[in-house]
Amino acid sequence: MIILFCESCDWLLVPCTLLAFDDTDSPDGMCTTYLATLVLEELADFDLIGLPRLVRLNPNIPWKTRGNAAICLPLGRGIGRGEVCGSLNGSAIRYFPRGRQVDPTELLSRASRVLEKVAIFECDKTNPGMVVSNSRPPPSLYWKAVRGLVSLKEVEKILERSGAVWKKYKSGRGVIGASAAMSWRPRDRTWEVIAYRAPSRWGTLRKVDPKSVIRMDKHTKMTFNNYDYENDHVAITPGSPCPILFGIRGDSPAELLKAREMIRGEEQDRWLMFLTNQATEDHIMERSVTSLRKWESARVRVHVSAPPKTIPGGHVIVRVSDGTEIDAAFYEPSKQFRSVARALLPGDQVTLLGSVRDTPRSLNVEKMAVRNLVEDVRKVRNPVCSKCGKSMGSIGAGQGFRCKICGSKSPLSAATYRKFKRTIKPGWYEPPISSRRHLHKPIRRMSKVDIDKI
Ligand code: ATP
Repeated sequence: MIILFCESCDWLLVPCTLLAFDDTDSPDGMCTTYLATLVLEELADFDLIGLPRLVRLNPNIPWKTRGNAAICLPLGRGIGRGEVCGSLNGSAIRYFPRGRQVDPTELLSRASRVLEKVAIFECDKTNPGMVVSNSRPPPSLYWKAVRGLVSLKEVEKILERSGAVWKKYKSGRGVIGASAAMSWRPRDRTWEVIAYRAPSRWGTLRKVDPKSVIRMDKHTKMTFNNYDYENDHVAITPGSPCPILFGIRGDSPAELLKAREMIRGEEQDRWLMFLTNQATEDHIMERSVTSLRKWESARVRVHVSAPPKTIPGGHVIVRVSDGTEIDAAFYEPSKQFRSVARALLPGDQVTLLGSVRDTPRSLNVEKMAVRNLVEDVRKVRNPVCSKCGKSMGSIGAGQGFRCKICGSKSPLSAATYRKFKRTIKPGWYEPPISSRRHLHKPIRRMSKVDIDKI
């Protein structure tokens, strides 16, 4: 596999024409990554100059369909030897190490015809956008779109400056995601190989042999999030009726090519490899509790200020503070992750990563580092009155004991206490594989620096 990055600046070095699109699907069907395969099929006379890019943006945007993904295809006239990165209708798709740019207007006109054929326009939430440019918008646009809120107006200003051409459908909101995908300059990156179902099978139950997924998981070293052993669940297949059969994620594109071939099940009608920002945690910002803003994702260093509570629905709420208090929510879908939350005690120091919810104001926790644990010392017996020989009663929280018969008093230290073993240890904790978000960086992907920086 050819990696097209400058080692020092990580920038795509070669000239190409960028074609990006977003917001073409609905919860009932289609998928923007599938549109990428249709566009490549239609534009078979152009070449990929580098891998297609699948870019996840702010996961808290309320108007997203599913995973807030946008696509950017680097296209042109390829130079050099192409490498296989997919298969469409039995023909290999190749990407080239170098190339020449093409006319953006022609590209937009041809690619937008494909979008117009398949986008689910009748869905309220679907507002497609397609952008073509010979120069990349500034990376600051990507960072804002993966971490915050971007307006269409500001994006269009940037596009005008970079000489891009674009098409909007309905509100045209998709132009935001498309432009952000174009502006992504990878700081960290992963790859995903996606296999698609034959159209005749869309909407029917997916057939993927779980044993082959486990075998692939065990025989590959750099893939991740394949199988949720805690919940016995195949994690590479989506739950929605979209055209995707499965997607395997990993840190080695060469290994992903082999991993795909190891999966048994229904026919893989077509497949394509993407360069992605998934599992990079690009969405997370260091924050204090007071500076948390709705729809952002943050990392806060706090201590537990009240015992965890389990509320109806099985969600666990832990009051935490860094001087300002907030509820940290461990929702039911995070499954076993909640048992770590339940094991916390007031005074424990933790670092929480999660998304901010406005009402009720809370931090929806996606990952946690336990920095320091208090001792779990509990009173097991009240003191006995030295005069009456009877058990004394508590005067009130933190105020010692009094004998109900003779009224004599004893300090708090007179009671019998026992130290219990803590059930959790300092270190990192995360939800099981099937409850993770696309941008969640699995602990196994974290560098030593990431691990130590708690
Ligand atoms: P899928 O993952 O199935 O492709 P999706 O979850 O990506 O669907 P979209 O249908 O693409 O959802 O909807 C997301 C919409 O939000 C798009 O129109 C996109 O342009 C817009 N958007 C994405 N990030 C931001 C942001 N940070 N600020 C404002 N709008 C955004």
